[in-house]
Amino acid sequence: MSPLLPIHLLGSAVLRERAKDIATVDDEVRRLVEDMRETMQAYRGVGLAGNQVGIPRRVAIVQPDHEDLLVLINPEIVERDGEIEAEEGCLSIPDIYGDVRRAARIVVETTTLEGRRLQVPASDLKARAIQHEIDHLDGILFLDRLSLFRRQLLLRKWKNQRRGETGLLREEPETAAEA
Ligand code: ZN
Repeated sequence: MSPLLPIHLLGSAVLRERAKDIATVDDEVRRLVEDMRETMQAYRGVGLAGNQVGIPRRVAIVQPDHEDLLVLINPEIVERDGEIEAEEGCLSIPDIYGDVRRAARIVVETTTLEGRRLQVPASDLKARAIQHEIDHLDGILFLDRLSLFRRQLLLRKWKNQRRGETGLLREEPETAAEA
């Protein structure tokens, strides 16, 4: 076990950056993915993007319950179908949840850890998590996809629950079921 990566919280500038493409899938990238996997699993998240661990490169992972880890490197959504609204959370915004409308089914094209380009169809939670993580790589948070009213409500809740806390890094797992 390597030490967990610190997770950047809402307010940290790196969450608002557009992550840069990965030119080559090398050992450094594979090591990063492994560290991200350990971190995501420790926090019991279903997804984690580079920006969230302070590394604005186009790498993310997704792992809905009981499924194999999906590694996303330079991912692009190439097909979308249907729309569905469901609740989301985020490891970077603990204890805040909101209903987000997303494509119900997608096909994502991604580079594998072996450097091959691959298309992966996804639906349900997996499709939702992939869209959430690709948003992170574009500097977008799920809060941005809510109505102004809902967003302001949740931001007020976030500020209240963080009263007195100023740190923008999360270094101890404590809650469950976020992405
Ligand atoms: Zn997130």
